[in-house]
Amino acid sequence: MAKLKIVKHGDETLRKVCRPVEKITPRIITLLDDMIETMHAADGVGLAAPQVGVLRRIAVVEVEEGELYELINPRIVAYAGEQQEQEGCLSIPGRWGITKRPKHVTVRAYNRHGEEYEVSGSDLLARAFCHEIDHLDGKLFIDCMIEELSE
Ligand code: ZN
Repeated sequence: MAKLKIVKHGDETLRKVCRPVEKITPRIITLLDDMIETMHAADGVGLAAPQVGVLRRIAVVEVEEGELYELINPRIVAYAGEQQEQEGCLSIPGRWGITKRPKHVTVRAYNRHGEEYEVSGSDLLARAFCHEIDHLDGKLFIDCMIEELSE
């Protein structure tokens, strides 16, 4: 596994719409492993492929240690409620803000074995899913931030 360089805000890679994964190749598996290592090393709760310079619909999320979600071609299939909580991004160091997100979301995605699965999350997990899936469409949390927090 290798730690990858995280692309920072200002790089246009973060504003591109990512392409779906058509086939889970060894290269995709390596990318997932490297993304997990990079997320852990950066102390993040999620990481999307464009953040490591790869324009593919892949993300990893781990808000509780050991509860890791590999999201290949993820999509939100249901959402409910609303939350306004603090968010940040490994690609936008030093900036934090309050965003408006659904309180509960259900995501459908593929894992590294090519199996489709569904996961529902609330609160921080729901925010992380929304945040990472937004990255795959070139969207950043600062786009839906309703209040910027200083420091
Ligand atoms: Zn982010």
